[in-house]
Amino acid sequence: MLRSFAPKTRTSSLWQAIRAYSSAKEFDTVVIGAGPGGYVAAIKAAQLGQKTACIEKRETLGGTCLNVGCIPSKAMLHNSHLYHEAQHGFAKRGIDVGEVKLNLPQLLADKEKAVGGLTKGIEFLFKKNGVEWLKGVGTLKSANDIEVTLNAGGSEAIKAKNIIIATGSEPSPFPGFEIDEKQIVTSTGALSLESVPKKMIVIGGGVIGLELGSVWSRLGSEVTVVEYMPAIGAGMDAELAKAFQRSLSKQGLKFKTSTKVIDSVKKDGKVLVNVESAKGGKKDTLEADVVLLSVGRRPYTEGLGLENAGVKTDSRGRVELGNEFRTNVSNIRVIGDVTVGPMLAHKAEEEGIAAVEYITNGHGHVNYDVIPSVIYTHPEVAWVGKNEQQLKDEGIKYKVGSFPFSANSRAKTIDDAEGLVKIITDAETDRILGAHIMGPNAGEMIAEACLAMEYGGSAEDVARTCHAHPTMAEAFKEACMSAYSKAIHA
Ligand SMILES: Cc1cc2nc3c(=O)[nH]c(=O)nc-3n(C[C@H](O)[C@H](O)[C@H](O)COP(=O)(O)OP(=O)(O)OC[C@H]3O[C@@H](n4cnc5c(N)ncnc54)[C@H](O)[C@@H]3O)c2cc1C
Repeated sequence: MLRSFAPKTRTSSLWQAIRAYSSAKEFDTVVIGAGPGGYVAAIKAAQLGQKTACIEKRETLGGTCLNVGCIPSKAMLHNSHLYHEAQHGFAKRGIDVGEVKLNLPQLLADKEKAVGGLTKGIEFLFKKNGVEWLKGVGTLKSANDIEVTLNAGGSEAIKAKNIIIATGSEPSPFPGFEIDEKQIVTSTGALSLESVPKKMIVIGGGVIGLELGSVWSRLGSEVTVVEYMPAIGAGMDAELAKAFQRSLSKQGLKFKTSTKVIDSVKKDGKVLVNVESAKGGKKDTLEADVVLLSVGRRPYTEGLGLENAGVKTDSRGRVELGNEFRTNVSNIRVIGDVTVGPMLAHKAEEEGIAAVEYITNGHGHVNYDVIPSVIYTHPEVAWVGKNEQQLKDEGIKYKVGSFPFSANSRAKTIDDAEGLVKIITDAETDRILGAHIMGPNAGEMIAEACLAMEYGGSAEDVARTCHAHPTMAEAFKEACMSAYSKAIHA
């Protein structure tokens, strides 16, 4: 039909566009972005019978999380912990290893190996499930049309009944700091420093800053964390935040809380960072070889062409989220870091599955009250649900049960007994409202709290569940015993 209206010269861009989209490949669902939100959504959609494509502009799948986030940071946290233990912990355990030396290029190569293996793994899963990976930048042209500017050159027009935006986030810049990823770095640069900086300043005492600050401190850097708020830890329970800061201070990290960062100057190979008291007044200048900016992340929508499809964003640049993960354009949905909610890989994954289930069968589910947070330092800190302050603010009566790892036999046996488990329950019903753990393996242990909370469990339910001995998990059980009755071992 369209051919009969063809102008004699085919140079008209309108005509080219019409022609491109009339011959476009068609999909049931197209996901833009292959981070943990997007790749999980694409696999699920294919599994549920949708003809699915996923557009990703990186040369590897897995998004921020696998390439420059969760995975490389955890690889470096693990290996830097082993290095630190070999230096400071082995001898007392009866293991003499002689001089311990850091081989930074090998440590970085080991991180890359983890990243490479896992990103290839997603490629394998795409093939296994029949997801077509379109390698390039996806730009919306209308509510159903997308242009993919291919990495290999040229472009491809595709059509989609359903579109899922999963374009993630990027590090937030900070005025007065020019990022060069060598001296003034974001988390991405901090994952690949070629030498251990003598002095490092971390701006922002949230999860990413504390994790990467720990890595470089263990590898020999003198690390100072500057935080505007009076406490570190991105909203964790106040009691744990204090204990955590004490623990990190013992490890050698320095903290400047209630401190406002003004700007920076590069001078003689150093970075000078001007700060003042958050309340105003007292000024100071800190010096560092490397400054890590970890002041948060912002949604990423560059090149996405939201305006072409009429998709709205809010005042913070997040794609607006309606019911069933729909944007204001009903066949275009949005998940993960690019929209509202905590910027976490597992939150993005849950949303990916739920969004696809809404598309395919009309039902999806994400319980935002049970999204755990973990800081993978040593000790780890993990929490889920409400903290005491939130419950006070909401006027909810609660009880607290806690149990220290110093009274847990497994933790004592392996001489890794710093921290505690704190359970917060509804004062009337005993239902678990929050769990806050600082200790070895807290990130694994928090899964038990999530499961109990997902099923509306009480502290007594957990306390009456048999836990293997000797395990750290017994500390979780004992904290629950202490919440509804009394702990045995403390
Ligand atoms: C250092 C660090 C450590 C972290 N550690 C953890 C952790 O331990 N646990 C945790 O839960 N979270 C962690 N996070 C956060 C986690 O990485 C993010 O929450 C998660 O990756 C968000 O997933 P997403 O799918 O929404 O987006 P992303 O992972 O950001 O993926 C989006 C993808 O979309 C692609 N893209 C964007 N626009 C386009 C376009 N127009 N066309 C084609 N492709 C496009 C991008 O290239 C990217 O690959 C960490 C983050 C950082 C930086």
